[in-house]
Parts: sequence; structure tokens; C-alpha cells
Amino acid sequence: MRHLVIILGDQLSLDNPALADFDPSQDHIVMAEVMQESTHVWSHKQRITLFLSAMRHFAQALRAADFPLTYYALDQHHYPDLAAVWHAMLQNDPPQAIKVCEPGDWRVLQDLRAMADQHQIPLQLCADTHFMCSIEQFERWAAKYADKNSTLRMEFFYRGMRKKYNILMEGDAPTGGDWNYDHDNRQPLGKQGPQDLPSLPVFAADAITQEVMAMVSTRFADHPGALAPFVWPVNREQALTLLAHFITHKLPQFGPYQDAMWQDTPYLWHSLLASALNLKLLNPREVIAAAEQAYLAGQAPLFSVEGFIRQILGWREFVRGVYWLDMPALKSANFFQHQRALPNWFWTGDTHMQCLSQSIGQTLRTAYAHHIQRLMVIGLFSTLAELSPQQVSDWFLAVYVDAVEWVELPNVAGMALYANGGRFTSKPYIASGAYIQRMSNYCTGCRYDPKQKTGERACPFTTLYWAFLIRHEAMLAANPRTSLMVKHVSKMAAEDRLAITTFAEQRLQQLAEL
Ligand code: FAD
Ligand code: SF4
Repeated sequence: MRHLVIILGDQLSLDNPALADFDPSQDHIVMAEVMQESTHVWSHKQRITLFLSAMRHFAQALRAADFPLTYYALDQHHYPDLAAVWHAMLQNDPPQAIKVCEPGDWRVLQDLRAMADQHQIPLQLCADTHFMCSIEQFERWAAKYADKNSTLRMEFFYRGMRKKYNILMEGDAPTGGDWNYDHDNRQPLGKQGPQDLPSLPVFAADAITQEVMAMVSTRFADHPGALAPFVWPVNREQALTLLAHFITHKLPQFGPYQDAMWQDTPYLWHSLLASALNLKLLNPREVIAAAEQAYLAGQAPLFSVEGFIRQILGWREFVRGVYWLDMPALKSANFFQHQRALPNWFWTGDTHMQCLSQSIGQTLRTAYAHHIQRLMVIGLFSTLAELSPQQVSDWFLAVYVDAVEWVELPNVAGMALYANGGRFTSKPYIASGAYIQRMSNYCTGCRYDPKQKTGERACPFTTLYWAFLIRHEAMLAANPRTSLMVKHVSKMAAEDRLAITTFAEQRLQQLAEL
């Protein structure tokens, strides 16, 4: 054999660069489902189902295109992990070289290198052309633009990407005159709540998905989450349908309401495209082009289109760059030295805090929560309650259908928890219950009151927010982005400060009962 081409579970594209010069007469592909990938974090049933179903659909597409493929289905072998599968393949028929597209996980890269070393077979790592900024390009950008504190700013990276790819540009200037329409994209839903929400396209489970679901419901019966509603595209055709549906029916409203939350309404105007992008069923270029085209055709306003493109061309590419720049240190980063264990209700949603019971309950039902639920409800509470970033990160990696480490970890450790000390955020994302009250209807009917700092009805977010300000007063006062926040604290009477910190300590001791 000339090349053994390894295709990993999140590399499901025929444009995979490891297939570029594939010769079926002397090359061979291997794909494998292994227990470790579903169990190293306690994965949600829908996450396992999506990965395995999408892999099997992609294997079908490879076979249809006459690629020679060895596929290890989970129920047909006993290899515990990917390394064991690769060893078996290499022993049977050692190739001249192993080819693989750059993996998404740092851990898998180490396994690939160790395996190639052990067998003394050259490893050809192909740059992942799915991304619009390569790892090396990002390293160069970061070396040039990091400030004296090594801080990186997504906004400047994003502007560079807009120029480089000529997206929403008029000559050298941004379309509409501004780079960023963030200020138009933070509207709450108002008293009436979401109006005229389009229903999602339905992808009926075919024989492959049904078989995977049956296996998951027995073999992973104790894993978190429900199997239905399963709304996820499992192949490219379905992913393209979801993209077209989003562009036509949701993109115009995506911008204004992307930060809003509403009880029992999980998807709102969000695209649900992250899992299809992360599995490589979709290419970011085609997603961005479809959104830009909708603007040019007058079908969606600029603030929605720019807001959506910024997430993909900006944040998604940026966090991938940061992941590869900062691994493995990012995995153990813990700026505030928070060590508290996750309360058990992270796995049940069974808490009196309605915002968390809604966001976590929805996550367990659907394997989905949108950005603000992840950042400003679950992530915010995790910071204020001093939860261990590693435990929080493992939870996020387990429960979302789109969770893969290169995007999950920078978002959790970097953006939500400030565990990397503000490498790319200018301040910790902290707020009191008043933010959640403004952006949702979660507080209506909640046992707690977002306005109260102490007392039985005090909202835990509000209590812990003020205690956080008191504890980190000096650090926050020194930062121009947070100095206003702590102004009230500095004027507070000593007994008021003591009352808050004492009550916050009680709350932290009772997390399980909140
Ligand atoms: P939309 O709201 O429709 O956004 C459009 C697309 O933009 C998404 O599909 C996604 O590809 C991209 N995007 C948006 N925000 C980000 C971001 N901050 N970083 C990278 N890409 C972004 N995204 C994941 O793909 N996997 C994760 O495991 C993940 N974990 C997160 C954890 C936390 C604490 C936070 C704050 C964010 C996380 N995100 C993650 C980013 C974002 O929340 C999800 O991409 C988004 O909610 C997925 O839903 P959607 O496809 O409907 O996105
Ligand atoms: Fe959440 Fe506090 Fe509002 Fe209850 S009152 S829903 S805990 S923010």
C-alpha cells in the first residue's frame, strides 16, 4: 500500500485534502467508530447519534464513489480507541506513508504522531483547507497583532478576513460604512415573545440513523439526554437543505434577536448549522456566500447578514486559531483558581433557577442551546459560582451536538469563564440577574427575584455577581472596561458588603438545592 488515508469522524467531506491525490489502486481509507470518542466525556445521546450516523452516511458516499474503505462499526470490533484501530491496520499491511487531514483535537494529533513514530512510518499531515485561515496564518497574525499583554482581538482578525476574502466590502471600506452592527443585534423579544417563528425542515430518520439510534439507546442508555427531537442533518444533502431554509426563513430576523431567550423556545432564529459545519458537511465559504448573496438580493438586512457572517468568518476561525496557539495550556487554564464541583442538576436541569432549568433542560432534551444561553446563563453562572473550568468544559463538550474541542474549549475556558485570564476578551463576562431578565422571560414565575441581592428570594446570579465584584474589586477597578461596574462597590457600606459576601457564601454551600 502507498498511503493509508485516515478519515476522522469530523472530517466528512469529499474535499478532504488527504484525498487530493488518492489512487484507488494503491491507497486505502480507514474510518473507525470507537467507544473512547463517545465516552471520554459523558456524551449526550444525540451527539453520539449524529457523529455515528454522519460517519456512516459519509462511508456510503465514499463507497458510492468507489473509494476503497475499511470501516470499523462500533458493534463489529473490540478496539477501545482510535490508536488501537490504526495499530491493527498498520500491522496488517504497512503503508509507505499515513495521510490525514489536520485533526480538530490536540489529543488526536498527539495519538497520530505517537502511532507514526512507533511504526516508523512517515505521517503526512495535510493542512485543513475547510478553514479560511490556516493554523500557520493565524500564528503569523497573532505574532503581529498581539498587544503587550499577548491579548488578541477578534474584531481586528475579522476585519482582516473581510478584506482578504472581499466579503461585504465596497472597495477598501466595509459595506454600509461600519465593520460591525453589534449594537443592532441585542434586542429582547418584548412582552409578546417570538412572532412568526418558522418551523424547521424535517429530516426523517433513514435506515442508517434508525440503526444508530437503536444502538445508542441500548449501548449508551445511561448517557445524558434524550434521542428525540433529533433535528440534525446527517449528510451533505440535508445540510444544504438546512442552510437554504435558514437563509430564506430565518436570516432576516437572526440579527436583532440573536441574544434573546424565551421559555420553551430553543431554536428561535438561530441557524443550527454549527454541527454540519463542524463535521465538514458544509464549507464555511458556501455558508458565508449564501448569506452575502441574500443581502445583495435584498432578501436580508445588512445587520443580520453581517452579524451572521461575523460568527463564522470571525469567531469560528478565530477560536480555532487560538485553540492551536494555546494548547495544551488552555485545557488546564484556571485564572481565578475556581475548584468547585458541578452541582448534579447540570445533568438533570432540576434547579429552581428558571433560567438554568430552561437552558439545561433544553440542552438535555435537544443537545442544543444558543450562544447566549451558553455564555450568559450557563457560563455566567459557572463563573459566578466558582465552578472548576475543567469540569465545566467537560460538560460543554459532552452535551452539545456541535461540540468539538477546538471550538468548545476556547469558548468555554476563554470566553465564558475567563480561565485564560482574558487572552481574547477584554473583561470577564459577568452580569447580575437583571441581564437575564432583560433578555428573556425566564424570570417570570421564577422562585427568585433578580433585583434582590440578599434574602431567601434573592436571585443567585445577583447575589453572586455582587460578591464577585467585591472579591475582585481591585482587578476590576484597574480595567477601564469594568471600572464602572465596581464604582458602586467602592461606595458600599462595610456592613452591606459583609451581608452580601456572607449570604453568597451560604448560597455557594447550597448549590445543589438552589
Ligand atoms: P448561530 O447562532 O446560528 O450562529 C451561526 C454560526 O456561527 C454557528 O453555527 C457557528 O458555526 C458560528 N459561531 C457562532 N458563535 C461562535 C463562536 N463563539 N465560536 C465559534 N463559532 C461560532 N460552537 C460550536 O460549534 N461548538 C461548541 O462546542 C461550542 N461551545 C460553546 C460554548 C460556549 C460556552 C459558548 C459561549 C459558545 C460555544 N459555541 C460553540 C459557539 C456558539 O454558541 C455555537 O456555535 C452556536 O450556539 C451554535 O448554534 P447555531 O448553529 O444555531 O449558531
Ligand atoms: Fe435566573 Fe435569577 Fe431570573 Fe430566576 S430570577 S430566572 S435565577 S436570573
